[in-house]
Amino acid sequence: MKSKLLKNCKILEDGNLVERHILLEDHKIAYISEEIITADEVIDIKGNIVIPGLIDGHVHFREPGMAHKEDFLSGSIAASKGGVTTIIDMPNTIPPTITVQNLEEKRKLAEKSIVNYGFHFGSTTTNLPEIKNAKNIASVKIFLNVSTGNLRIENSETIEAIMNEAKLCTIHGEEENLTKAIGIAQKLKKKFYACHICLESEIKEIRKNKKHVYCEVTPHHLFLTEKDKEKLGKLADVKPSLKTDKDREALWKALQSGIVDTIATDHAPHKKEEKLESEKSGLPGVETMLPLLLDAVNKNRLTLQQVIDLTSKNPAKIFRIKNKGVLKEGYDADLTVIDMDLDKEVTSDKLLTKTKWSPFEGKVLKGWPITTIVNGNIVYDHGNIYEIRSKEIKYEKPKPSFGRKKEENQEPTEEKEENTEKQETTEEKQQETEETKEKDKEAIQEQPKENQNQESQSNEKGDKNE
Ligand SMILES: [Zn+2]
Repeated sequence: MKSKLLKNCKILEDGNLVERHILLEDHKIAYISEEIITADEVIDIKGNIVIPGLIDGHVHFREPGMAHKEDFLSGSIAASKGGVTTIIDMPNTIPPTITVQNLEEKRKLAEKSIVNYGFHFGSTTTNLPEIKNAKNIASVKIFLNVSTGNLRIENSETIEAIMNEAKLCTIHGEEENLTKAIGIAQKLKKKFYACHICLESEIKEIRKNKKHVYCEVTPHHLFLTEKDKEKLGKLADVKPSLKTDKDREALWKALQSGIVDTIATDHAPHKKEEKLESEKSGLPGVETMLPLLLDAVNKNRLTLQQVIDLTSKNPAKIFRIKNKGVLKEGYDADLTVIDMDLDKEVTSDKLLTKTKWSPFEGKVLKGWPITTIVNGNIVYDHGNIYEIRSKEIKYEKPKPSFGRKKEENQEPTEEKEENTEKQETTEEKQQETEETKEKDKEAIQEQPKENQNQESQSNEKGDKNE
């Protein structure tokens, strides 16, 4: 790629906004400078704030099997508009991602994505051999609650076997199922990733067992409650369901006290007609998460640093995503430019997801992403989409200290984690160089593309729950 200088940026440094110029070279952040330096191309950021691109660790982009609701192109276009530069897709597609072959097929479909992408692998009562052979995955997802097809697992021994095998498990476990998962994690001395936590009681449970649980919350549980069902009707159906005001306040307190590690969208689109016709759980969210959070920053409910940590730094760390999540020299040039003063209403006609509706329709939010850069390429800029193919994320090797049965007495400590990170750096650098060389098949088409709405309406059975 040509080198690009983003001039007149503001970035957060030790909690303060400072003026800097950012040089992008070879798809990386090459240099962060106080002086203007030369580059092939200079882009004036006009004093707006640049943050690390968001990493949404929980989306359902619906391919294969339900591409009329979303696909990797439409979903990634929506993500780019929402300032999201990396997504990790969930396995409950049709067919579900529960074999190595299914994973390889999904990998091919995802090549059209314009934001970076990764995959969670599904688990069943019988697919442990496939889990062992699945390469380059973010986690193994276990559904302890009702979900697509036969992916729900109830047997504790099976769950234990999966958790023991997987480097990391993401778990849909509500209430007593969360307790069950925690019990197994305690026994194995493992830490798992609890998806969409939304009840005060669940927060209490996690607080007691924090060393075994990474905690994710969604924007819809932070910004909507069961009262919104009155207005939204069936459109508000989601799993887990919208909760009470008291639960919502508990989530906000948990954000402040550090119990919550990540905010992820659980972007699970259905067409509006489908939601109204029958029971379909799931809400779109990948386009609206960042504006909702920036609006909360403007209202002093969160700091910008918290938003960065919860949506970029922490997911990169938890899923061990290589070279992302931080705005620093040497890291991948995945960046989001935000305008904290921009006031805009969420309106369905402006949405780029195939679903074309939002539970936040009509909300006026202050603070929006205006430009999104993925691997050094501008993919979204003030309403324009540039369809430049992105790439699959890579993961660091698991840290040796925690989770293996044979090392039962070891507890995780920040110190140990940091040391391991340092050791891995050299190896990573070598791999990175090779990856950079192999890159650069960039087909640029300049034009916000109309989404293809006409795909078949088949395969309706498996998509009820997320
Ligand atoms: Zn989900």
